[in-house]
Amino acid sequence: MSVIHGQNFLMVPGPTNVPDRVQRAMHRNSTDHRAPDFPEITHSVLKDLKKIFCTETGRAFVFSATGTGMWESGLTNCLNPGDTILTVRLGQFSLLWIDMMERLGFNPIVLDVEWGEGLPVDKIKAHLMADRAHKIKSLCVVQNETTVGVYTDIPAMRRVLDETRHPALLMVDGVSSIASLPFKMDAWGVDVSITGSQKGFMLPAGLGLLAASQKALKMSETSTYPRCFFSWRDMIVNNDVGYFPYTPSTPFLHGLREALDMLLEEGIENVWERHHRLATATRLAVKAWGLKPIAKKESEQSDAITAVLVPAGFDGQEIVATAYQKYNLSLGGGLMKVKGKVFRIGHIGDINELTLLGTLAGVEMTLRDVGIPVKLGSGVAAASEYLQSTGVPLRGLN
Ligand code: PLP
Repeated sequence: MSVIHGQNFLMVPGPTNVPDRVQRAMHRNSTDHRAPDFPEITHSVLKDLKKIFCTETGRAFVFSATGTGMWESGLTNCLNPGDTILTVRLGQFSLLWIDMMERLGFNPIVLDVEWGEGLPVDKIKAHLMADRAHKIKSLCVVQNETTVGVYTDIPAMRRVLDETRHPALLMVDGVSSIASLPFKMDAWGVDVSITGSQKGFMLPAGLGLLAASQKALKMSETSTYPRCFFSWRDMIVNNDVGYFPYTPSTPFLHGLREALDMLLEEGIENVWERHHRLATATRLAVKAWGLKPIAKKESEQSDAITAVLVPAGFDGQEIVATAYQKYNLSLGGGLMKVKGKVFRIGHIGDINELTLLGTLAGVEMTLRDVGIPVKLGSGVAAASEYLQSTGVPLRGLN
């Protein structure tokens, strides 16, 4: 084995890099989760988590789980066995959520779109309009489909529900968008907001984070779906007095506390803006290489991840393997339907201009290595021209 120098460039769209501050906050002994002062951390984390979900009226939950667990938590707390759900399959994650709906005995009506497209707003509206008996109990959509880098229009979902006067719950998977891309739970009337710790929150995988509106909480009081580990009621009873219904990972809670501090110190809107700048620079680089994102509409191209279409005759998997083996650069591969057809650059979480430019340099060299004729430096030049000329913000010194 040869010695590997320098750090791995972890540029997959999650898990993302864990900042030193967060690592240090987590590097501690376990603490007594029944201690009299334990409620301080529980209450402070739950209070500030709401600021990231942009909700004042909702309620935040922290589970020892991942985003997948929060899909289950949302479905089983609000709905009843056999309930009808309207949903859209736009990539691997929406596909897996739908698979879960079926396996848990719900009845999803699935609208399929070509991978790379966003939500079919008119078709969704037509289904809601036709549902006079209000059989559809929830509209479940993924805000940022990580497989294809498509950022969907959640306010449009609220609009169609309002326009059709449909009472279905709006459940949103924000696993790769919350804490990195615009997400406004109250303003957009989202009822269940689902995410995990390993993307915008800059933590390792291991926490499932969720927020529920008053309407969702009310439905959870009468839902007959059996649940145990993911029960909101058990969590509420314990959280109200500052504890958890099971042993929480205390180092993780301290990590979350530090990550929340970082997000709030930067300001959530500045976090969104930083992701937008870095994503714009990435897209300029992709264009300079003569390549294209798979996300069709410009307005839907994700600010968290760019899935780049690989020219015919080349293999995206080879690009990902080469980047890792030659340059210690981790890129995302294509999943399922788009396996081999795309490679994915994550630009989410704790990254800055130079992290991105180093990544783009690694991508260009890799593309050359596999035989795709790109001009070395072309993507880096396009991205750095944009980043430098639009003003890299001065760091506050403290
Ligand atoms: N939803 C989206 C959009 C995701 O990107 C992921 C994971 O990458 C998931 C759900 C599943 O989350 P987890 O792997 O945390 O269970």
